[in-house]
Amino acid sequence: MGDSVKVAVRVRPFNSRERQEGAELCVSMNGGTTKIWSKETGFEKEFNFDYSYWSHDGSIEDPVTGMLKKASSSSNYADQQTVFNDLGVEVLDNAWNGYHVCLFAYGQTGSGKSYSIVGYGANKGIIPITCEEIFTRIRQPQPKKIDFQVEVSMLEIYNEQVQDLLVPPAGREKGGLKVRENPKTGVYVEGLKKVIVGSYQDISNWLDKGNEHRTVGATQMNATSSRAHTVLTISFTQLFYDENTGKPLNRKQSDINLVDLAGSERAGKTGATGDRLAEGSNINKSLSCLGKVITALAKKSQPGGKGEVVPYRESKLTRILQNALGGNSKTTMIAAISPASYNFDETLSTLRYADQVKAIKNKAIVNET
Ligand code: ADP
Ligand code: MG
Repeated sequence: MGDSVKVAVRVRPFNSRERQEGAELCVSMNGGTTKIWSKETGFEKEFNFDYSYWSHDGSIEDPVTGMLKKASSSSNYADQQTVFNDLGVEVLDNAWNGYHVCLFAYGQTGSGKSYSIVGYGANKGIIPITCEEIFTRIRQPQPKKIDFQVEVSMLEIYNEQVQDLLVPPAGREKGGLKVRENPKTGVYVEGLKKVIVGSYQDISNWLDKGNEHRTVGATQMNATSSRAHTVLTISFTQLFYDENTGKPLNRKQSDINLVDLAGSERAGKTGATGDRLAEGSNINKSLSCLGKVITALAKKSQPGGKGEVVPYRESKLTRILQNALGGNSKTTMIAAISPASYNFDETLSTLRYADQVKAIKNKAIVNET
C-alpha cells in the first residue's frame, strides 16, 4: 500500500514585489531533492523528499536550466493538477481502503499553504478537486453492492479555541467547543456540526459557508492570511451488502482530514504586537506541539523507540488530529516555501520540519467492522 507518510515540498513563485526588487533565489530542486543555500554564510544543505515541486508559472528560474522561461526539461514543475494527481489521488485511494488520512500544509505566512489546500479562483487546490473526485468515483458503476455515506465538518482553532465553521459566529459556544474522548471511538469535538452531503455542489456550498465564518486577522506579512488552523474533515463510509440476500455485510470508514495550518513564522516577524502577540503565542502552542508530536512519532519509528510518549494532549490541534496523525493512519505533508533569500531562516526551518515528518513510519490499519 506504499508508505504511510508522504512529504512534498512546494515552492511558490516570486511575487511581483519580489520580482521588482530583484529578490534572490535561495532554493533549487532536482528530482526529489530540494537544496537551500545562503550566499552570506556559504551554508548549503540538501533534503530528500517524496516530491519537490517547483513553481509552474515561469516567474522563478528553472531549477535545471537557470532560465526564467518554462523549460520542458524540468520534471519539477507542478501545477494544481499535478499535485492532486500525486497526493490527492492517494488520499482518495487510502480513504476507499478504509484508512484515516491527514493531509496538511505547513509553512510561513504567504508561502502557498492555502494555494495548495484550497486554491484561488480557477486554480483549484486539493480540497475542491478531492471533493469533486469523491462523487465522480461514487457515481461510477460499482463491482459490488455498496452504499456510500459522506459527511463533512469544518472547524477552526484560533487562540486554542475550537470553533465550528459550519455555524455562523453568532450561534457559537462561548469559549469554543470541547474536545472529548470516547474510549471506543477516540477523540471527538463535542457538538461539532456534521452534515451529510450528496453531491459536490452540496459540499461546495458548505465550504463556502465555512470560509465566510473564518476568523481572518490582518498581519503586516499578508493582509488576508488566516492566523488560525482550519481543519476540514470528510467522513467517508462504505457499507457493503451481500449480492444475493441484500443483507449488510461489513463497513469501512475513513476520516479524510485536510488541514490548512496557520503561519509557522515566529510572532516577531509578522510585526505582531499586543493582542496579535498573544494570538501568536497560542498559535505557536498548537504548532509547536505538532512539532513535538512529530518528533516523538519519528523517535517511535526508530529501533527501540516503541516506548516514546507522544504528547497529543498538549494542544487542541494535536488532540483533534490524534486519530489521523497516529501510528495507524496515512499522513501527507505539503511543506510550502518561499523562493527568496530574505525568507532563508523560515524556509530552512520548514525544510527541517518536513525532514522530521519524513522520519515517521506509521503502520496504517484499515477501519473495518
Ligand atoms: P499562505 O496560505 O501560506 O499564507 P497563500 O496560499 O495565500 O499563502 O499564497 C500566497 C500568494 O502566493 C497567493 O497570492 C498565491 O496565489 C500565491 N501562490 C502560492 N503558491 C503558488 C503557486 N504554487 N503557484 C502560483 N501562485 C502561488
Ligand atoms: Mg493561508
